Amino acid sequence: MGNLAINGGIPVCDEMIKPMAWPPLFEETADKLKELYFSRQWSFNCQAEQDFSREFADYHGAKHGIFMANGTVTLECALLAGGIGAGDEVIVPALTWIATAMVVRYVGAIPVFVDIDPETLCMDPEKMEAAITAKTKAVIPVHLYGSMADIDKIKEITDKHGLFLIEDCAHMQGGKWNERGVGSWGDVGSFSFQQSKTLSCGEGGICITNDDKLADLIYRAKHIGYDTLAWQGGANNGPPVDLPCHNYRSTGFQALIVSGQLPALPGLLDKYNKNADVLREKVSGITGLRVQKKGRLASPQGYYGMTFLFDREILNDISFQTIIEACRAEGVQLAGTYGPVYQHMLFNLQEGDYRIDGGSCPISEGIGFERAIFMPHPYLGCEKAAVEKIGDIIVKVANNIKELK
Ligand SMILES: *Cc1c(COP(=O)(O)O)cnc(C)c1O
Repeated sequence: MGNLAINGGIPVCDEMIKPMAWPPLFEETADKLKELYFSRQWSFNCQAEQDFSREFADYHGAKHGIFMANGTVTLECALLAGGIGAGDEVIVPALTWIATAMVVRYVGAIPVFVDIDPETLCMDPEKMEAAITAKTKAVIPVHLYGSMADIDKIKEITDKHGLFLIEDCAHMQGGKWNERGVGSWGDVGSFSFQQSKTLSCGEGGICITNDDKLADLIYRAKHIGYDTLAWQGGANNGPPVDLPCHNYRSTGFQALIVSGQLPALPGLLDKYNKNADVLREKVSGITGLRVQKKGRLASPQGYYGMTFLFDREILNDISFQTIIEACRAEGVQLAGTYGPVYQHMLFNLQEGDYRIDGGSCPISEGIGFERAIFMPHPYLGCEKAAVEKIGDIIVKVANNIKELK
């Protein structure tokens, strides 16, 4: 018998800790959805879509918001508006959801993977600069999990080299960098409202931008070429000849659902930030364990989750599945993190259609699948006592890690 519950010891919790129910529900939104249903104004730049697009852009300090079907086509439309296409290279971090890289192929360009910073797990600006070639046209940094990419440093580099900058903010709704909303720093910011994200309508996404011309191109790219003033069946004027235009529209129902969550976002992020600090405090000073670092000038952070990193040396041959099982036996259900995109089960690009700068990304390869434990954000919505218990569990497992060998 050992100390750990998985080895017959006494568990930290008698029952499994329940994360906050997600996504959040509001009676007021349910009423509005019913009203929208009876109004028959469901799509095609309907009032609900226009209202939410403006609210969301305002919140993040951007002039325009363009609402879409998901947070993958938002990235694609941003690339199209930036004129990115065949023969171009686009730099992306190796550690992210695969959509960040796959969209580059959708427009015919080559994704170039660069490694991450070992502390923040976001794209390393120096490695990004080193990967720039004559073909490089754009960069897509990701504000990953619970850390913001070094956007001021990245912007300095993209400005210097004249590159198009798209922020993938799928994990960072409402986050601010140096007191300005994420997504408003780059040429375009892209957000996802997929089921698991911190604003959620099942499926949805938005692009924000401060550039009038880009806003028009993005809007046309998602709306089969129509401009914002077009009505159903009536186009005022056509899109530029070289802009591929799709139907990536969403509906007013989705817009109403996320719109209902937006006023609660500051309070939610405040709670997440406070509880994340409680966890950071709990695990600080534990040998062989650390937490993904916050973005340097980030406040508030948007937390898609928290990532706990176990030291390779100490961990030796213990798999992250074993650690997850040990945590589960103590009372919390955690998960693994992404690995590098090019090792993902769903990654199916052929050699020549992508490039790994320097031939490998050792930090991304070491962290993903192997030694990082991911706690989804709804756990940060728990009461403080439950959050402290989660900290106790992680500390207990780390302190008794030898029992898992
Ligand atoms: C979820 C996500 C996306 C894509 O969003 P979907 O709405 O699922 O298409 C893009 N980038 C990152 C980092 C994501 O986590």
